[in-house]
Amino acid sequence: MTKQSSLSPGSRLNDYTTQDGAAWRVSALKEVSYDVMVQPRLLDPANPALADALSSGTTPARRLIVIDATVRSLYGEQLAAYLAGHDVEFHLCVIDAHESAKVMETVFEVVDAMDAFGVPRRHAPVLAMGGGVLTDIVGLAASLYRRATPYVRIPTTLIGMIDAGIGAKTGVNFREHKNRLGTYHPSSLTLIDPGFLATLDARHLRNGLAEILKVALVKDAELFDLLEGHGASLVEQRMQPGEGGTGGAALTVLRRAVQGMLEELQPNLWEHQLRRLVDFGHSFSPSVEMAALPELLHGEAVCIDMALSSVLAHHRGLLTEAELGRVLDVMRLLHLPVLHPVCTPDLMRAALADTVKHRDGWQHMPLPRGIGDAVFVNDVTQREIEAALLTLAERDRVPRWRALHGAVDMGV
Ligand code: NAD
Repeated sequence: MTKQSSLSPGSRLNDYTTQDGAAWRVSALKEVSYDVMVQPRLLDPANPALADALSSGTTPARRLIVIDATVRSLYGEQLAAYLAGHDVEFHLCVIDAHESAKVMETVFEVVDAMDAFGVPRRHAPVLAMGGGVLTDIVGLAASLYRRATPYVRIPTTLIGMIDAGIGAKTGVNFREHKNRLGTYHPSSLTLIDPGFLATLDARHLRNGLAEILKVALVKDAELFDLLEGHGASLVEQRMQPGEGGTGGAALTVLRRAVQGMLEELQPNLWEHQLRRLVDFGHSFSPSVEMAALPELLHGEAVCIDMALSSVLAHHRGLLTEAELGRVLDVMRLLHLPVLHPVCTPDLMRAALADTVKHRDGWQHMPLPRGIGDAVFVNDVTQREIEAALLTLAERDRVPRWRALHGAVDMGV
């Protein structure tokens, strides 16, 4: 017999019998929708967007705000003035967020703050404000607290705005494994204010441009052209609108990057499908990033992986010599590394083996096919990886033996 649920359309309970007795099948659907909005001048008292996001019908609203320590020192006063002006009572939980602090202990710190504040179960979203490390930690805490508490994200780094802050994934590192513990729990709303990028240092801006380059290479040739044409000035001007500068290009780059990323994430939010274009640059990089910690930033490790994957693609005839040259030139233009001393053949072998487990026994490795398109492959050999490392090292003018013995200079 089937019983449909009136509380949750599409959900049902079937009872049936097996040889040994009674059995039940529980089926339920969980509908998810969330908003990602570009909202310049978010902390301008005249802009109601943030106040609206935090309002709950109770007056005055009380909210817990978990904020990155650097972001607090830069924007704390403006934030406090904004919230006071909009009658929002708040408590700040300040986290010194960096990759080495992306661990369960920091999640518990946030959970302690949620408990002490008395975050209610449904209608008082916690605000997470900071880079990808901060929003990943708060997202995980929110998904665990009372099994799911709502939250709102304000990403303040470029990686946050175009990647970490707009998807469903939360997570922390565990032992030497990148993002090994995590959940799927998107925020109800992400507010993107590119103005925050004005204070981001050049290295972290480039770090975000690496993830944008990823989207460009696998699905958006026009975005690649924009990076090729404006990459240097996007960094110099921190993607801010400016006199005769990159204002228009910056906004177009940001929009195309968010659009491209969401197009890939939305149909596969729970990652039932493990062939994911957005995994380009993420086959070797999780192990590279963790082995080099704290030396390499996330996007830098991704760039090294993209460089290696592009050479693999070139060796297979998927990228022409000219296309590979353009790809590596854009990486150089953005001052992103294409190699690092930890990239030994052994580490790359272990990295790929770990990724194969993560992808359920398959490589599912995205490789670029021309610029703006990609294919998935499952038969990359260790020989090919070593040949690609050597090619990269040669192009980087690093002696051959050093490439194979793990002493490769960063290609900056
Ligand atoms: P991050 O959070 O460490 O921030 C980088 C630095 O910038 C920090 O020192 C921070 O204090 C500082 N900062 C933040 N905003 C600033 C601002 N406006 N002005 C000046 N300084 C500012 O690093 P990140 O690059 O934002 O994020 C990287 C993390 O994101 C990695 O842990 C990665 O795994 C994760 N990530 C997650 C997803 C996902 O789907 N959940 C996707 C991509 C990346």
